[in-house]
Amino acid sequence: MADRILLLPDNIANQIAAGEVIQRPASAIKELLENAVDAGATEIKLIINDAGKSLIQVIDNGSGMSETDARMCFERHATSKIKNIDDLFHVRTMGFRGEALASIAAVAQVELRTRKADAEVGTYIEIENSVVTKQEPVAAPVGTSIAMKNLFFNVPARRNFLKRNAAEMRHIIDEFMRVALSFPNIFFSLTSNGQQLFHLDAGTLKHRVVQLLGNNYNTKLVSVKEHTDYLNIYGFVGKPETAKKTRGDQYFFVNNRFIKSGYLNHAVMSAYQEMIAPDSFPMYVLFIDLDPTQVDVNVHPTKQEIKFEDEKIVYAFVQAAIKHALAQFSITPTLDFDL
Ligand code: ADP
Ligand code: MG
Repeated sequence: MADRILLLPDNIANQIAAGEVIQRPASAIKELLENAVDAGATEIKLIINDAGKSLIQVIDNGSGMSETDARMCFERHATSKIKNIDDLFHVRTMGFRGEALASIAAVAQVELRTRKADAEVGTYIEIENSVVTKQEPVAAPVGTSIAMKNLFFNVPARRNFLKRNAAEMRHIIDEFMRVALSFPNIFFSLTSNGQQLFHLDAGTLKHRVVQLLGNNYNTKLVSVKEHTDYLNIYGFVGKPETAKKTRGDQYFFVNNRFIKSGYLNHAVMSAYQEMIAPDSFPMYVLFIDLDPTQVDVNVHPTKQEIKFEDEKIVYAFVQAAIKHALAQFSITPTLDFDL
């Protein structure tokens, strides 16, 4: 009997793998912004056209890459962030799987321009279908600019699956805001079809929260700050009167990574009990920092779900910290709501 098993060519394997990481423009943007953060950038500019469908470009002033690294970064499982499985449990960078750029290079036309501070010239690379089509030395500022054009140009089924621009823009702004909130010390801008939508100077977390979530929060934030041996919790919650009828301004970051957790959301909600109407949602931007060995961030392709070693402790700390913060500002339950 004839053998039938074939090893898939790299570009096809990368295209398939890309489905896990890059579902839409917003997911590519998340990966590129996180790479810029990991590179130590203090300024990150995001430029998009057509809701990212025709162009996504991220320009950073971070470490830049050597000529060799500039080629290597597009290989699958190529990363500078971990070396062995043990590192995975100590990782402090946003990335670690070495999959994002390989995926992006498999499903878009990519142009990379990068230079390290100690290099006289930079490197320019074009890559399409996972194949480098052009490489040359280039004059470039220190840092990295990566542009991806025509996302899914070679995977029409995925391209057709993309939503209208307005819907894709909402996803993009969500991702942009998450990264911008978690790194208030970094300058971020977002330009869409030539129009600047965000220009966020580096500053305090409070400044960033107000810039992004609205001036109305300026005098309506309650500061949260608790330190224990097990974890630190800090950030802001909205005064009860700012609770809204729609969920929205609710953010958890664990070791600076945005996560979704219905369980921890419940901890916050329970701390507000009786202070807000039962069908309303308080605003929160909360950072939980703990020993990376106490969280597994490798349980979900986009890392938005994580697993705590001991989630009950985290729940109890979150709940206690919010109760404490709300009590300190001597906010007593009010009956002004139409219940
Ligand atoms: P990961 O972030 O998981 O390591 P990526 O595919 O996103 O994987 O990136 C691969 C590697 O390319 C990174 O480990 C890093 O060394 C390098 N790299 C990617 N983006 C940048 C950037 N903006 N600045 C400097 N180096 C980068
Ligand atoms: Mg990455």
